[in-house]
Amino acid sequence: MAKKEVLIVGGGPAGLVASINLVREGFEVTLADQEEQVGGNPDWHPSAHTTPLKGPATWEYIGIDCTPCFHDISESLTVVVGGESAPIERTAEPTFTCERGSRETSLDSFLYRIAVKEGVKFNFGTKIREEDLQKTPEHTILATGFTPAMYKTLEKPMSNYLGYHALCDHPPGEAEGCIYLGGLGKEYGYSSACNGLWYVLLFSRNELPQENLDYFADLVKKYEDKEIAEWRRFAGASPKSGPELIYKDRFILTGTLAGFIETNYGFGITGALISGKIAALAVTDRNRARAEFDSFTGGIPAMLEKKRKGQVELGFKLGKIWFEI
Ligand SMILES: Cc1cc2nc3c(=O)[nH]c(=O)nc-3n(C[C@H](O)[C@H](O)[C@H](O)COP(=O)(O)OP(=O)(O)OC[C@H]3O[C@@H](n4cnc5c(N)ncnc54)[C@H](O)[C@@H]3O)c2cc1C
Repeated sequence: MAKKEVLIVGGGPAGLVASINLVREGFEVTLADQEEQVGGNPDWHPSAHTTPLKGPATWEYIGIDCTPCFHDISESLTVVVGGESAPIERTAEPTFTCERGSRETSLDSFLYRIAVKEGVKFNFGTKIREEDLQKTPEHTILATGFTPAMYKTLEKPMSNYLGYHALCDHPPGEAEGCIYLGGLGKEYGYSSACNGLWYVLLFSRNELPQENLDYFADLVKKYEDKEIAEWRRFAGASPKSGPELIYKDRFILTGTLAGFIETNYGFGITGALISGKIAALAVTDRNRARAEFDSFTGGIPAMLEKKRKGQVELGFKLGKIWFEI
């Protein structure tokens, strides 16, 4: 009997985890990505992400041990609030940095190597457009992340983000992170370093005047002694309407496109990994997948509502995401 086909659109962490889980279950999996290689949009990456993480629970849940990609920065993490260094409220969960993009050392490349070995077929340089979606197989997983075009195609309301970012070299073997809150209007920033790469990002809803960028660059110089030679800019989107697993009774959504992203600080990397597993489950058991999806994302609508009312707490609690929502 012919194997059942699954198409996955988007080869970020969510799509890759879904692909690995499905190919292991005997499906014929094809993953299409609009870029020429794994690692997402080269205007956004290489980058380094900071995230609280329950490592063992996450690896067990997704069936892939990603330990080599996550570097513990709990001890060196600095939090700057309103321009001043602030104490960190620590819970049991440590904080990690993780490289993204197409370099060998990135999480994306790590997952890609596993996917290839397990038998996933890749179609790079393949952008899936509205007309293509009419002809996709019964089980199609959409994992297009922050990329705004798919929200427009699906007519899904989105919140727009701008990011101003920069990177430079860092001593190999040193992993560090810094989070900047307050004093930047509604914006917040972070830096994250691992694998010889130091990366800084200032998230914003609106276009920022040069003076805000200069103020942020001065903070970074003060706390990390890094000079920002040039800001690069990206525009991305996440769902406005909250988490959604099944779209129009046909497509399975995953990762950021499914709203699996923490609402206050945009932690989405571990959510992408977990939701990739849920998307794979949705192919074989929709009801169970829905229940698991809801159990992880149940707290998000209330968080979104608070955010809409401007009730975002200034502060940073380590680890209270996904496995505790
Ligand atoms: C610059 C930046 C910094 C971030 N920092 C952090 C952080 O510090 N901590 C954290 O936890 N999270 C962070 N996030 C959020 C996190 O990256 C996302 O939540 C996560 O990447 C989502 O994974 P994903 O697999 O859903 O999508 P993505 O990683 O965005 O992958 C989507 C893939 O889909 C492909 N694609 C898009 N459209 C199409 C199409 N039409 N056809 C075919 N392919 C398509 C893209 O090329 C890409 O490879 C950051 C995001 C960005 C952009």
